[in-house]
Amino acid sequence: MQPLPREYNFVEIERKWQKKWEEMGIYRFDWDDTKRQPFTIDTPPPYPSGEFHMGNVLNWTYFDMVARYRRMRGFNVLFPQGWDCHGLSIEVQVEKAHELRKREVPPDQFRKWCEELVEKYIALMKEGILRLGCSIDWSTEYRTMDPDYWRRTQLSFILLHKKGFMYQGTHPVNWCPRCETAIADAEVDYDKREGTLYYIRFPLEDGGGSLLIATSRPEFIPACVAVAVNPADERFNRCVGKKISVPLVNRLVDVIPDEMVDSAFGTGVVMICTYGDKEDVKTVMRHKLPAIALLTENGRISEVGGKYAGLYINKAREAIVKDLAEAGLLERTERLQQEVGLCDRCKTHVEILERKQWFMRTRSLTERVVETADSVVWYPEYMKTRLTDWARSLDWDWVISRQRVFATPIPVWYCKNCGELILAEESWVPIDPKLENPRNAKCPKCDGAEFVGERDVFDTWMDSSITCAVHAGWPDSPTWRRLFPADVHPSGIDIIRTWAYYLMVRHLALFDETPYKSCLINGMVLGSDGRKMSKSLKNYVAAPEVLAKYGADAARQWAAGGGATGSDIPFRWPDVEYGRRFLVKLWNVSGFAGRLLADYVPGKECVLQPLDKWVLSKAAGLVKTVTDAMEKCQFNIAVEEIRNFTWHTFCDCYVEAVKDRLYRAETYGEPQKQAAQHALYETLYTVLQLLVPVIPHVTEEIYQALYAEAKGCASLQVSPWPERQAWVDEAAEKRGDLIIGLISAVRREKAEKHLSLNTQIKKLAVCAEDKEAADAIKSGSGDIIGACKVENLEVAVGKGVGREVSECPNVRFTAEY
Ligand SMILES: [Zn+2]
Ligand SMILES: [Zn+2]
Repeated sequence: MQPLPREYNFVEIERKWQKKWEEMGIYRFDWDDTKRQPFTIDTPPPYPSGEFHMGNVLNWTYFDMVARYRRMRGFNVLFPQGWDCHGLSIEVQVEKAHELRKREVPPDQFRKWCEELVEKYIALMKEGILRLGCSIDWSTEYRTMDPDYWRRTQLSFILLHKKGFMYQGTHPVNWCPRCETAIADAEVDYDKREGTLYYIRFPLEDGGGSLLIATSRPEFIPACVAVAVNPADERFNRCVGKKISVPLVNRLVDVIPDEMVDSAFGTGVVMICTYGDKEDVKTVMRHKLPAIALLTENGRISEVGGKYAGLYINKAREAIVKDLAEAGLLERTERLQQEVGLCDRCKTHVEILERKQWFMRTRSLTERVVETADSVVWYPEYMKTRLTDWARSLDWDWVISRQRVFATPIPVWYCKNCGELILAEESWVPIDPKLENPRNAKCPKCDGAEFVGERDVFDTWMDSSITCAVHAGWPDSPTWRRLFPADVHPSGIDIIRTWAYYLMVRHLALFDETPYKSCLINGMVLGSDGRKMSKSLKNYVAAPEVLAKYGADAARQWAAGGGATGSDIPFRWPDVEYGRRFLVKLWNVSGFAGRLLADYVPGKECVLQPLDKWVLSKAAGLVKTVTDAMEKCQFNIAVEEIRNFTWHTFCDCYVEAVKDRLYRAETYGEPQKQAAQHALYETLYTVLQLLVPVIPHVTEEIYQALYAEAKGCASLQVSPWPERQAWVDEAAEKRGDLIIGLISAVRREKAEKHLSLNTQIKKLAVCAEDKEAADAIKSGSGDIIGACKVENLEVAVGKGVGREVSECPNVRFTAEY
C-alpha cells in the first residue's frame, strides 16, 4: 500500500491513465475469445465537425458508461470508433473556405480539400474523446471516406439492388438550390417564419367573373397547372370543370375538385403548381396533372418562366408581384406565419424539383420497422414512438443519390449505345464508375463497349446506416453474425429519425433482422437558461474549457447525473463543481484510509462490530441499487446513490463513528481495530468499483495505490463488478441505524450548544422504550463512547426523558458535560 499525496492533481492523473490504459490494451476487443460473451456497442460514427461540444460529452459519457459497466460484468466488449466523413456539411465548408463552388475545380482537388478538412476535424474531436477518458478500442478506428469502408457501402447497394430495394425514378425530391443536390426528408429542418399571403385574381375563361386565390408563393404562377376547390364548397363548386386563365402567362387550366382543399384557409381556392410544396406533389399525382419544371438546380427560374427566366426565386417573386399589381390582379396582401423547410446543412429554403434519382424502397418496410421497433428494448421506453411515428410519417421513399463530389460513388454504369444499366459485380468494389469501366466491358444487351459511369453519389447516411453489420466484421469475417445484432445502439434524440431509422431499414432489407437489440437515447444539452445550447444564444459552453478546468471525472458526473436518461440536460457549472467537490471528498477519505490501513493485512481474522456489519450491509444494498440502475441505463440514479452513500453513509457516519477505534487499538483491542480496517477497506473498494463507469480516472489512481497488490487486477477497470450479497444483514442495519442515529443526535446537540465535537461528556444517559433497542445501543457502546467522547455511558429500558433521537423516536438521551 502506498500513501496518496494530499493534493489531487486531476490533469496529471487523468492524462497518465489515459495513456497507460492504451498501453495496457485493456480496451481491446478479443476477436478470438470464445469463452466470454461478447457485448457490442454500435458507436455512431460522428460527422467530424471540428468541435467537441457538451452534447458530445453527454453522448460519449453514455457510451462509455455502458462499455465500462459491461466489461466489469465479464463481457468481451466491442466499443469501436469510426468517423462519418462524407457529406454536405464538409463540402459546404470547403466551398466557403475556398470561396468557390464544387464544379469550379477538378473533383480530385475538391475531394482532397474535403479529406484534409475532415482529418483536421477528426484530430480535434478525437482529442476530446481521449480527454474524456473513453474506453474505446482504437484498433477498430475507421473512416467512411476510406475505400475499404465505401467498399462495404457499395456492396450493400449491390445486394439491395439485386433484392429489388433500389430503383431509379423521376420523382419530385427535396432540393437545396444552394448545395445543388437532392436531400432526404430527414435533412429538412422546419422553421417558423413570417411571410406574406398574396390575394390574386384569376379570370374565368367564360367571362363569368374571376376567382380569388391566396398564395404565399406567387413566383410559382408560371408553373400553375390547375386551380382546385373543395367540391363541398358551395361558393365555388359551380366553377368546377370550367377553364381559368393563369395571370401573366395567360395559360388556360382547369378548375378541379379536390377534397383535400381546406375551404377555411385563404379564400378556399388554391393554385396547384409544380411544385410549390409537398401538397402540390400529392395533388398532381392524384389528378395526373402535367409537371412544369420552373426551377433550375441552382434555384433560378428556367426558360419555361418566360420573361422571368434567369431570375433567382426571390427576385422572380418581386417581379411577379409588381406585374400583378400593375395588371390590377393583386387584390391585397396580409402577413402570414408559416412553416418553411430549410436545408439542414446550409439553411437555404428547400424547393421541390423533379430529377432522375436513385431511391431505396423504404416505405414498403414501414410495418416491419414498426414491428421490429417493438422487439427492441428502448432506454427510455417512450422513445420507441419517435422511431415508429417517423417511419409512418414518411410520404416518399428514401432518395439515396446526391449530386455532390465528396461521397461514396454509386457503382453503376449506363451503356452509351442502348442506355442499359450495368450494376457492378460484388467482387469489383470498391470502384469509382467515373474512373473505371465495368470489368466485363460489354453491354449484356447490345454488346456495346462504351459506358458512362454514374456521376451521382450516395447520401452519406448510406455509409453510416450499415455500421451494426460493419462493426461486427461484415462482410469479411466469417463469424460476423456472432456479433450481430449490436447489443446496444446509443443515439441522440435528434438522430432517431435518421440514424436509428436508416440503420433499421437498411439492415432489415439486407439481412431481414433488427440491427440492434436495444437503443439508448440521450437528450439534448441545454444552456443554463434552459434553452438549447447554441453559440448564437450566448449560453454556449465549450467542452475543452470544462475539461481543462474541472477534468473528465467531474464533467462525466455532470453527464451521468444531470437528468434522467433521454431527457434534455441543462449544463450548469455548479453541477460540475459539485462533481469536483465529490472527487476531493473521495480523494481525502481515501488518503485517510491509506494512512489508517498502513498496517492492515487483508484476510486476517477480525471481530466485526455492529457498525462494521452495518456499513457492509448498506454497501451491499448500494451494489444492488446501482446494479439495477445500470442494467436499466438509469445513470443519474446510479451516480446519485453512490455519491450519497459515499458522502453521508460512509464518510459522515461510518468513518466518523469508528475513527477512535482505528486510532486507539489499545483501548478497543486489536481484532476490533482490524474489523474497522476491514470494513473501511472493503467498503471503499466497493465504492471505487461502482464508480468506475462514471469516474474512471481517480478511482484507478486510488486503486493502484491501495488495492492493486492485494486484489490482483492489473486495472480496476477490468475488475469484476461487485457482488456483495453475502454482506446483507438486515438485523445489523437496524441496530446500526440506531447507533448512528444516537451518535448524530449527540453531535447535533454539541453543535447547537456551540461545543466542540471533542468536548467530553461526563455522563450520557440513554433510554430506549424497548429492550431490543437498548441492546442494540449497548452493542455499539464502544463506538458511541469513542465518537461522542463519553466518560460514562448508561443505557436503560423505559420511557426516558431528554432529547429525542430523531431517527428513532423511541430513544431519548441526556448528556452531562
Ligand atoms: Zn443546402
Ligand atoms: Zn447496350
